[in-house]
Amino acid sequence: MRIHTAWGFLPHHTTNTVAVGTARASLELRAGQSIASKWVIWAVCAVTVFVLPADLPLWVRLCWALPVMGMAEVNWRVCTHVMDGLAQASTQGLRVRQIWLWWMTAINQALMGSTVWWFGYSGDLTLAAVGTSLQLIYLSAAMINAATHPTTFVSGAWINLSLAILYWATHSLVSIPLVLALAGMGLVLSRLSVQMAHSFEESIGMRYENQRLLAKLEEEKQVATEATRFKSQFLSNISHEIRTPISAITSMSYLVLKSELTAKQRKYVEMIDQCSLHLRKLINQVLDLSKMDAGMLQLEHREFRLSQALDNVLTMNEDAATAKDIALSLHVKPGTPERLLGDELRLTEVLLNFVSNAIKFTEQGSVRLEIALVEQTTERVQLKFSVQDTGIGIEPEHFDALFKSFSQADSSTSRKYGGTGLGLAIAKTLAEMMGGEVGVQSEPRVGSVFWCTAWFGRPETVAADLDNEPIPLDIPIWPRLAQPDAPDPAIPQALSAALPRPNDDSPEALLGHRLAWLSANDDPAAVDLIATYAAELKNRLGGSFERIQTALRQYDLPKAYRLLEAMGYTDPATLAPTQKTAGDLASSILVVDDTPTNLALMFDLLKDEYQVRVASNGERALAIASGSNPPDLILLDVMMPGMDGFATLTQLQANPASAHIPVVFLTAKNQIEDEEKGLRLGALDYITKPVNPPIVLRRVRTQLMLKKAHDFLQDKANNL
Ligand code: ADP
Repeated sequence: MRIHTAWGFLPHHTTNTVAVGTARASLELRAGQSIASKWVIWAVCAVTVFVLPADLPLWVRLCWALPVMGMAEVNWRVCTHVMDGLAQASTQGLRVRQIWLWWMTAINQALMGSTVWWFGYSGDLTLAAVGTSLQLIYLSAAMINAATHPTTFVSGAWINLSLAILYWATHSLVSIPLVLALAGMGLVLSRLSVQMAHSFEESIGMRYENQRLLAKLEEEKQVATEATRFKSQFLSNISHEIRTPISAITSMSYLVLKSELTAKQRKYVEMIDQCSLHLRKLINQVLDLSKMDAGMLQLEHREFRLSQALDNVLTMNEDAATAKDIALSLHVKPGTPERLLGDELRLTEVLLNFVSNAIKFTEQGSVRLEIALVEQTTERVQLKFSVQDTGIGIEPEHFDALFKSFSQADSSTSRKYGGTGLGLAIAKTLAEMMGGEVGVQSEPRVGSVFWCTAWFGRPETVAADLDNEPIPLDIPIWPRLAQPDAPDPAIPQALSAALPRPNDDSPEALLGHRLAWLSANDDPAAVDLIATYAAELKNRLGGSFERIQTALRQYDLPKAYRLLEAMGYTDPATLAPTQKTAGDLASSILVVDDTPTNLALMFDLLKDEYQVRVASNGERALAIASGSNPPDLILLDVMMPGMDGFATLTQLQANPASAHIPVVFLTAKNQIEDEEKGLRLGALDYITKPVNPPIVLRRVRTQLMLKKAHDFLQDKANNL
């Protein structure tokens, strides 16, 4: 990139920032140096006039000194002028200043170049040598130009050196080497100047680039901060708006559930209720997060009872733990104070997240909440809350991301266990706001410990007692919860021993067998059956009812069957009168989806015309398809935990027992690439969600007709 004219002056109308910046910086350096050196030059001239030997006439000395001093004065004035308005000067202004300084330097060096002529006036070569030395000293001081503006420096240097060379060449034959040395020095300095100027220009270029980047960064930061603020504001407004209708849905479904309903209606309303609960949790989390982002979240500082907060956490999780047969226990270490000052609701929120996660990610075993005192002063206490589980655990490489918003240990987590990946991020911020921190220890397939610390104030009444009663202050006596280091309660056992035997002839026993049979056959009618005969089955199945019901609500039919089988409900003979045969209904369809709501929807949509079976994951779908009673058509979801829809289809086709079953994808993945991939893998159709029921029915019918026609032709071909 050429940024100067041949003479090194700034081109007239250049817009090159680096060239303009370099010119401005070089002018500032050069003018600054001349302004600063005025008095030095004056002092050197005055001293020299007096110390020169008397055989050099006074008028000669003055002829040298006075012009040089005058030159320093002119320099000072010119340079003050150059500096004036330099920062704002236009390209043209800079160019004019460069030209002034060039003339100034040329005159300076010409005057200094005359030194050897004045000093050697009387023919004394020693004095002439002193003169040349002064010239060289001046030249070296002018080296600043070498880096900033080579044209000025090189022309000035040659004016100065030529005058010295001319003197020595004409006055002393023996000084030929000196003449050569001076000429060589001129060449070396010229070259050096060009190199130095390049480096100078480069460093100025880098400075400008850095400044530009910093300015851009600052600008982007401003935009990002503004956008975050706006987003948070928007989210918090919109979340409030959304929360209102959601709570109306929750309360209305609660009221509807209390009224007389048919089993089917009850099932639908329960689904609405569950979905609205999920939605409300999500919206609350998003609201919290946006409040935190916008710095609008404030903590309360009120007195509360720790036992009350812990009681709430356990009560809210009891049902979930019981449904999974998980032992939930609380352990309060001695010395933990009961009355605290702080934000009870926010503490509860953090603990709820830890405990509900622990239950969610644990299939069997226990969840243990432990509280211990870490540190205390007269006014404050620091407590540590740990939640230990025997669940799936977490791979160490995921630890760092866990406490970040929207992050889950494994991207399939949300598909399998639900969740948003927001809870831990919120817990971390809340713990930090309470002066504490959060952490995790975990081993895959063994379990995890999530912990947090927090500081709380001590209510005044407690602090006043402190003088009389040293540590431990306040060992709580909590009737319901106090179990300092008590052993884990035994895992609740199914109450099967006390229950009626499955093989009596009562209608309830038949119901149990029918439920088992439907579950074993992946028939979602089991879900309706348990809802319709909830009271009868609860009596019959006792403590296991909740677990069977949870499994069925999640459409985990194999698990429901295992639980029923363990209680003896397997007898197919008792089912004979009610058993459907494949011939009852025209065709059978297997719906594969990991979301219970979707399975319920498809079942209700298809059940009047077809025999419907369900599988909540790919593995189960493979087992059904390759079993003794394969379906006529498979409706397959794509995004599922573990084996996804594409992998399931590949495996279906690889197995001769299932390769002939037509597959239709039914999925929320609506990208054209996904559709192409699905069809390329061998699916016959690709339907995207949300589905339009009549269209689904029509496309299912078409596929089944094609399959029938194909089977008919195949039969004919075989006969022939
Ligand atoms: P969510 O549970 O809603 O996805 P969280 O922020 O509460 O969001 O948790 C983030 C992720 O941390 C979870 O998706 C899961 O992968 C992991 N995790 C949290 N608690 C546990 C636990 N007790 N055991 C195993 N994994 C956990």
